[in-house]
Amino acid sequence: MPEGDTVARAAGRMQTALAGRVVTGSDFRVPRWATADLAGRTVLEVVPRGKHLLTRFSGGLTLHTHFRLEGSWHLYRPGEPWTGGPHWQIRVVLTTAERVAVGYRLPVIDLLPTSEEANVVGHLGPDVLGPDWDLERVLVALTAEPDRPVGAALLDQRILAGLGNIYRTEACFLHGVTPWTPVGSVEDPGRLVERARALIRANIDRPERSTTGSSRRGETHWVYGRGARPCRRCGTPIRRAEQSVAPPPPDPNHPNHPAGPVKRAGPAGGPTRVTYWCPSCQRGPGPPDAGPASGAPGPGGTSRRATGAAVGRRPFRAAAIRPGTGRSGGPGRG
Ligand SMILES: [Zn+2]
Repeated sequence: MPEGDTVARAAGRMQTALAGRVVTGSDFRVPRWATADLAGRTVLEVVPRGKHLLTRFSGGLTLHTHFRLEGSWHLYRPGEPWTGGPHWQIRVVLTTAERVAVGYRLPVIDLLPTSEEANVVGHLGPDVLGPDWDLERVLVALTAEPDRPVGAALLDQRILAGLGNIYRTEACFLHGVTPWTPVGSVEDPGRLVERARALIRANIDRPERSTTGSSRRGETHWVYGRGARPCRRCGTPIRRAEQSVAPPPPDPNHPNHPAGPVKRAGPAGGPTRVTYWCPSCQRGPGPPDAGPASGAPGPGGTSRRATGAAVGRRPFRAAAIRPGTGRSGGPGRG
């Protein structure tokens, strides 16, 4: 699942390449839009909204795409070979005089009136990278479900849009709470949300994602992707588990609770995301089957004493996140 920064970078590239250009040909390779033709329309702008991409055309038409896990847009000069994957994975092609935009593996492709964009993105909470950022609104939605694990709530695009698995995992580490900590037990949830937002904003122009400030190989993340390796702060082996991220079931006491069985999400079913945490630096419950993670002071607290299995390895000390210090160029992520 791409994070919002990936989508924002893709939107920036598309905007640079296509905005103001007239479409000379379009090819929708999905049955629903097979007869659609955008030729003659001008690309007005390409706008990221959370993890959604909105390409707006003259005549009040919007192409809505979502990358989900595998999708990507690639840009080519006319005549250049297309290298984004096998041709059967191509879903849509937009051609202008200067550039060809090829959408690979896009699971969501919709054409709709621009005036009706709210139908596809209106459910989203404030965008962590957008001009509509509104922490108060996020906190109202976040704390409305105090029993929900904070790691799941941070991924709920209705609460805040654009945050993905890596940033929510890293933000929980930096805030010293496990991803299973109930929202209502998180001290200063606004600070946690702003930490996550700062991480993603610091990466918007970096092709190589880093949450530690370091771009050195193996040092770009605190806990994400580091299962069983020593915590950079305390040396304790980092743990890894799947976390259920399904929306909470409807409250059975609510007057509008639908009749019929409530489908419960959890280990037995429903969407999950892999997450990582340091059982020493992060307070709070662990995965439902694994019992409490720890009671040790977290990095957000006052003590940073090393605990656990630090064996002859100096804790990693990262520089502060410095926006805009990443290398430019290099491969994009779609
Ligand atoms: Zn640790």
